[in-house]
Amino acid sequence: MIVIMERRASDDQIQQVVKRVEELGFRAHLSRGEERTIVGVIGDERPLSIESLEVLDGVERVVPVLHPFKLASRDFKPDRTVIDVDGVRIGGDEIVVMAGPCAVESREQLLETAWAVKEAGAKVLRGGAFKPRTSPYTFQGLGIAALELLGEASETVGLPIVSEVMSASDIEAVSKYAEILQLGARNMQNYSLLHDVGKTTKPVLLKRGMSSTIHEWLMSAEYILSNRNYNVMLCERGIRTFETATRFTLDINAIAVAKQLTHLPIIIDPSHGTGKANLVPSAAKAAVAAGADGLIIEVHPNPDRALSDGAQSLRPEAFQKLMAELRQIASAVGRQM
Ligand code: PEP
Ligand code: MN
Repeated sequence: MIVIMERRASDDQIQQVVKRVEELGFRAHLSRGEERTIVGVIGDERPLSIESLEVLDGVERVVPVLHPFKLASRDFKPDRTVIDVDGVRIGGDEIVVMAGPCAVESREQLLETAWAVKEAGAKVLRGGAFKPRTSPYTFQGLGIAALELLGEASETVGLPIVSEVMSASDIEAVSKYAEILQLGARNMQNYSLLHDVGKTTKPVLLKRGMSSTIHEWLMSAEYILSNRNYNVMLCERGIRTFETATRFTLDINAIAVAKQLTHLPIIIDPSHGTGKANLVPSAAKAAVAAGADGLIIEVHPNPDRALSDGAQSLRPEAFQKLMAELRQIASAVGRQM
């Protein structure tokens, strides 16, 4: 449940509520909004009665939270979360585009792509070092060598990095070079990994599992938040449906649904969502029009030679053209880019 404090509640009254919540065996989470402060009660609150908190001074009302996710919910925190990544603000008025290759393949490939996406206006460089491939016989990523190349590209080009952690043992190495830890679709319900990234202070890009509901996705975010890492952004990357014309079905609805349910930024991945480079621009533009806070797009200088996901990777020229179109859509919906 959440305790909504009166507009003029004093700091002392707020602290008394926090104290009472903790005495009752729960954790209290403060959300100081522009209008008023909300104290979230965290834990299994079934035995707790509304009256036990409603009687306290400065309390306006106590409301049960109907969703099983709490820290992720808009009820707990009505104001949107804005995550600062080296000065890049994700979740604010600006649409942030992250771009780069699916996987880091070589210094030349990475640097060429990094310069191209930076010039086109991307604010974060993506690149996989540890790749969750469907087949164990395909390219699995260059691992630590890829992270070192990402570190070099980040310094040379001046973009922060987002890269995937596949297991807890990757966290330390990826954190050394990347500002954002990507948690992949296939690991969305790896609860021990969610717990471990929740123990870090790094922003996390949490991809939606390809067969997961929006509620399950938010519950996974809750695992990270409940470990006190509040810098989580959600990434819709396409779900499994009966449709075979595209690799996955990009769930545009998820943007509006998630925006209603949560304060966390929503990023859209039109590359995996479609699986086809010539469909990426339409999906990306639809996402911005629908209210996404950012995009993550695969770009490769030679998609036909890519070691992973070449079919869905944009050439640098196509990416540049798309960015110009996205700017127009962003401005039409009152966002900057
Ligand atoms: C990726 O970003 O290259 C990737 C593997 O994504 P997902 O986890 O969404 O499949
Ligand atoms: Mn990929």
